[in-house]
Amino acid sequence: MQIPIVQTDVVIVGSGLAGCAAARELQKAGKEVIVLTKLHPLRSHSGAAQGGVNAALSDDDDPKLHMFDTVKGSDYLADQDAVELMCSKAPETIRWIEHMGAAFSRREDGRIAQRPFGGQSKPRACYAKDRTGLTLLQTIFEQADREGVDFWDEWYVADILYKDGKAYGVVAFNLRDSTPTIFNAKAVMFATGGYARAFKINSNAHANTGDGLSIIARHGLPLEDMEFVQFHPSGLAGSGILISEAARGEGGRLYNALGERFMEKYAPEKMELAPRDVVARAIMNEIREGRGVGPDKMAVYLDLTHLGEELIMERLPELRDLAITFLGQDMVKEPIMITVTAHYSMGGIPVDIDGHVKKNTKELVEGLYAAGECSCVSVHGANRLGANSLLEALFFGRHVGQSIAKDLDRLTLEEAKPEEAKTMLEEMEFLLTNNGTEHTASLRQELQDTMFENCGVFRTEESLKKQKKILKELKERFKNIRIDDKSKTFNTDLQEAIELGHMLDYSSFIVEGAIARKESRGAHYREDYPQRDDEHFLKHTFAYMDERGDIRLEYGDVVITQFEPQERKY
Ligand SMILES: Cc1cc2nc3c(=O)[nH]c(=O)nc-3n(C[C@H](O)[C@H](O)[C@H](O)COP(=O)(O)OP(=O)(O)OC[C@H]3O[C@@H](n4cnc5c(N)ncnc54)[C@H](O)[C@@H]3O)c2cc1C
Repeated sequence: MQIPIVQTDVVIVGSGLAGCAAARELQKAGKEVIVLTKLHPLRSHSGAAQGGVNAALSDDDDPKLHMFDTVKGSDYLADQDAVELMCSKAPETIRWIEHMGAAFSRREDGRIAQRPFGGQSKPRACYAKDRTGLTLLQTIFEQADREGVDFWDEWYVADILYKDGKAYGVVAFNLRDSTPTIFNAKAVMFATGGYARAFKINSNAHANTGDGLSIIARHGLPLEDMEFVQFHPSGLAGSGILISEAARGEGGRLYNALGERFMEKYAPEKMELAPRDVVARAIMNEIREGRGVGPDKMAVYLDLTHLGEELIMERLPELRDLAITFLGQDMVKEPIMITVTAHYSMGGIPVDIDGHVKKNTKELVEGLYAAGECSCVSVHGANRLGANSLLEALFFGRHVGQSIAKDLDRLTLEEAKPEEAKTMLEEMEFLLTNNGTEHTASLRQELQDTMFENCGVFRTEESLKKQKKILKELKERFKNIRIDDKSKTFNTDLQEAIELGHMLDYSSFIVEGAIARKESRGAHYREDYPQRDDEHFLKHTFAYMDERGDIRLEYGDVVITQFEPQERKY
């Protein structure tokens, strides 16, 4: 088969905030950029973000305080140089996107309005009602488009071109008719988003299957801190669809079946506005001890009725709509039922502060970059604070775009050959022709059910080892897969099978990292090791997968500049 090879300066995979921000910077700097995305850009998960984006903008706030809150929120695992860079550039980032047209909600005096979010000492989440992500994504996509960025949407990237520590392109196929193409470039950037779809109850879009991580890991490159998956306290009961932290930021209160405002017991000072890991564990604890509400007692109440219809309609109209549509509960009139939902991935592709992907704890890969939720520059450490990830995606997206533009002066083009599409073509051929008995949907369901059960909010050695065994079995069964649609046109059966392969791979990283981390820190809570253990685990996990799928771990240093680890209390 003749495989077309397209050459360009930079290929970016992903068109959420991080991908679009980088693409715009590069195009503006006169570089040739192609953005590949399996979705239309405006359907990227960034567009679903509701609550806000942080910056120390107000007169009584300070980027240094933002930095401290972020480091404390991270349970001291964040790299403080990266946090400092992001927090100090946050006000400028907000002004940048605002001047490009993002319409933020305003205060009476005309300044940008800011709402309180968990774990922050000041109200610093800038918002556009409860559609912040959509506003930002529309703005940055339009601006990238205006600059002339070449978007190839509905292209699925399945492999990278990587040899001897250098990346020089990707292999992709067009979802419309399955035609393969090689994209050959001097620099490759991944901005493929998060991976919470591996869990039964989650707030993520269907597309958040962590493809970018597994694609990179299959070449023997490391993934960092994968055990840290954030469980958001408020997903709608049953579905896990997100009810933004903005609901608690605006004054929402949590109650158990006995009518107790239970956060008094867990975080007497911050109450509902304690960080997400603290609130999520409190909710799960109430549920486990039998004080849950709803038909299966698997939820608690979030009460917003005291805010009144006018304020809810002004600031939380989407949230009200979601609860009416998916639960039949109107937050203006009654408390709504919420439960913990897998939401965000703190771990990912390890990068340095300028977005260069790490080959191991000491060396960098040439020509390979990552930013946004798929990356781990480690600004969130073990737990992300709300409204810090839109900031991360926007700021680091832009910053990494600028860093690539500089590197392009010295990066050369390694010519790609058609045979380098082999791995992807073999994978597609296998999936289309294998006549097994297993189906994607049922394997995926088992993966999601068991990850939530055994590797969720609460973890133990026993539950994690059980999950390791289950993953091994699921990977074996995946070899016996059969997909029914054999066609070439929009074959979602094929796409979902490829995505399941990715989910199985990165889930192993989550579980192995969690088994080895015999402590509790941020979102990773081990019931058998409930204390944080700085002596042994104030370290980043670097995990590598070999050809047999086995995982090897090593540990890297945490960058501590200004704030020495302290006990974390709220
Ligand atoms: C419901 C919800 C609400 C949120 N609310 C907030 C909030 O209020 N504040 C906040 O700070 N954060 C929030 N977050 C988190 C935040 O939205 C994300 O972390 C951030 O938007 C991620 O941006 P990104 O650019 O890294 O990835 P995404 O926006 O997820 O984009 C990923 C891109 O990668 C592409 N892609 C992936 N795999 C492939 C492949 N194999 N081939 C081709 N393309 C591929 C996709 O097409 C997509 O364009 C929220 C998240 C969710 C789920």
